[in-house]
Amino acid sequence: METTLIILKPDAVQRSLIGRIIGRFEDKGFQIVGVKMMLIDQALAERHYEPHRGKGFYDGLIKFMTSSPVVVLAIRGIGAIEISRKMMGATFGADALPGTIRGDFGVSNSFNLVHGSDSAESARRELGLFFGSGELLDHVRAVEGWVYDLSSGTPE
Ligand code: UDP
Ligand code: MG
Repeated sequence: METTLIILKPDAVQRSLIGRIIGRFEDKGFQIVGVKMMLIDQALAERHYEPHRGKGFYDGLIKFMTSSPVVVLAIRGIGAIEISRKMMGATFGADALPGTIRGDFGVSNSFNLVHGSDSAESARRELGLFFGSGELLDHVRAVEGWVYDLSSGTPE
């Protein structure tokens, strides 16, 4: 099982898309193990987007991400990092395919609704920035055996 960080960015919250976007991840079968609404401060935004420091869009990105509240989620599942990135779609709303979150809900190339960790290393680092120890709640889902085939002993 992998756990990844998803952020519903300020545009998603302002546009009242929280429920529909979280619903996409729930519908897919991912388990939500952490969730909170927060205003990202300058220091946290800079740490989160450290890999993009110096790029042309960096200052605007930091301003956007600190401009209004976000909802951060920790979602868990087999292949959660790669699958959730596919569900988000291409970075630019204009390029994102219909059926993806960015493709269905947005057209902007910078206000693109969602962040998702792009690798196991990013997920570990980013979850650590947004969730304290004890804030990710491991729990057994009653429906687990219908989301995954558990008959072999390992989820398929
Ligand atoms: N971004 C932007 N202009 C660009 C590239 C990126 O405004 O030309 C923003 C956009 O919000 C994007 C974020 O910076 O989601 C991080 O960029 P990245 O390339 O990591 O895209 P992502 O992983 O979010 O698809
Ligand atoms: Mg990225």
